[in-house]
Amino acid sequence: MTNLNAITISSLELNDGRHIPQLGFGVFQVPADETVGAVDQALQTGYSLIDTAAMYENETEVGAAIAQSGLDRSEVFVTTKLWNDDQGRDTARRAFERSLERLGFDYVDLYLIHWPAPAQDRFLETWETLSELHAEGRARSIGVSNFLVDHLERIIDATGVVPAVNQVELHPLLQQPELRRFHSRHGIVTEAWSPLAKGGRLLEDPVITEIADAAGRSPAQVVLRWHTRLGNVAIPKSVTPSRIEENLRVFDFELDPEQMAAIEALDRGERTGPDPATFG
Ligand code: NDP
Repeated sequence: MTNLNAITISSLELNDGRHIPQLGFGVFQVPADETVGAVDQALQTGYSLIDTAAMYENETEVGAAIAQSGLDRSEVFVTTKLWNDDQGRDTARRAFERSLERLGFDYVDLYLIHWPAPAQDRFLETWETLSELHAEGRARSIGVSNFLVDHLERIIDATGVVPAVNQVELHPLLQQPELRRFHSRHGIVTEAWSPLAKGGRLLEDPVITEIADAAGRSPAQVVLRWHTRLGNVAIPKSVTPSRIEENLRVFDFELDPEQMAAIEALDRGERTGPDPATFG
């Protein structure tokens, strides 16, 4: 297996002074019995950010893969997330403890509220608990996922604690310009989930394939390069060894302004996942 450790993966500074790699490995829908192998390959290939969640039911395997990788815990940036059923003050704290136990760690690098689940109206008290876990040093950075502008405003106004990250669905067919502007104004890093739009027809779009042909790269590499040029963190998922490697090789070519503009014109506001205004 090619070792890509020589490739520098750029990182972004978070608003708490820590750094997050701009490209990571997502493990949603990676079956538990395939997770150790996939994460092991990702780590060997050079990924240093692994994105899991309590809901993915593979935290135990993520922790095991890291433990047996030979890497120091400090060399890997691990994100996990609090599931909707566990929102609330004490329930959030207990859910965090269970995630740590499954991972086998005494801290996580980034802990996220998975969805605002506004109908429950518990995300503010949940955010207060995450702020405590951050102050205790056990969640080294804290953030949210799938938060809309009004959800972000509510937690920031009430607590003064600005999330380090908002992890949202984002790809060329759903570019979320207004949300990204809000993030920039408040120093929140935008992390893109389903950065490849789940590998579907986006990767066959002629705009993407023409740029890929011109650059001598794959369509997925072009899309991931677009994310990193925009200043997003992207966390593509793959269980295919060649793609795990391909998705990391995106820092050694450029997209010119015309190519960036052509991809920007693909925005359709099209979600592949649930609407955060109503989900959960
Ligand atoms: P992605 O956009 O990462 O797409 C994954 C799909 O694309 C898989 O079917 C994969 O196939 C395929 N694929 C991967 N690389 C390539 C490639 N180079 N060429 C062609 N096809 C490719 O979508 P996901 O929904 O999986 O999202 C990624 C991560 O984002 C998740 O794993 C999770 O960590 C996070 N996420 C977070 C959510 C949230 O609510 N916070 C919601 C959803 C996801 P194969 O595996 O067969 O290679």
